[in-house]
Amino acid sequence: MKIIFLGTGSSAGTPAIACHCPVCCSADPRNHRLRASILVQDGDTNLLVDTGPDLRQQMLRADVQVLSAVLYTHFHADHINGVDDLRAFNFAQKIVIPCHADERTAMELETRFRYCFLPPDITWAKPSLSMHRIASPQTFGGVAVTPIPVLHGQLPILGYRFNDAAYLTDLKIIPDSSLMLLQGLKVLILDCLHYAEHPTHLNVEEALYWARRIGAERTIFTHMTHDLDYATLAAELPETVIPAYDGMVVDL
Ligand SMILES: [Zn+2]
Ligand SMILES: [Zn+2]
Ligand SMILES: [Zn+2]
Repeated sequence: MKIIFLGTGSSAGTPAIACHCPVCCSADPRNHRLRASILVQDGDTNLLVDTGPDLRQQMLRADVQVLSAVLYTHFHADHINGVDDLRAFNFAQKIVIPCHADERTAMELETRFRYCFLPPDITWAKPSLSMHRIASPQTFGGVAVTPIPVLHGQLPILGYRFNDAAYLTDLKIIPDSSLMLLQGLKVLILDCLHYAEHPTHLNVEEALYWARRIGAERTIFTHMTHDLDYATLAAELPETVIPAYDGMVVDL
């Protein structure tokens, strides 16, 4: 199984519009971050997590040909607003693309993007998606997927475990019942917004706290703002923790 980082940025992306800070102006490609998303690849199985506003660019850059399913973490704009570009896969695969989400996110998607869930028309003129409520573990090809409930401030959302790896973006608290589902991880991918405290996201210090508590072999930070310079942050972290960058591939 492989995890490809399609985007490692926060809602604004890096560089941010109209910002001329050193990170936004940095020549280091690891400081160029599209909105947060990953692709989990195992043989013919391609699982996409979230459809942010940079989806088209991400699919082109990673040369994704086929999608098996889309898994949604939550309904914030930086995680869903690229949904229209799933149409390319309807067109290429001639199938309705299955999407999985918790009840609230499924409802928000069905309301905001109602036209995507209507019966497909033969020309695939619009995205054609089916929505499945995911509450329990499920297998996609060789990938065992377990939804991991976390708290994004007050909002309950989902992270996902994929075999021995977990992707937990946009969170402040991991409940004890979810910690139980995160034992024996080889790779933990974790929200790490910036240095300052934030009401709904982990900052660097909190991300390190959860990384220690979960104790994965490797922890990889994502969903980072322009506050975080790649090289500076990487030098500050313990040996088992690294920041992600767009295009990074983790082999498991
Ligand atoms: Zn986000
Ligand atoms: Zn900036
Ligand atoms: Zn969010």
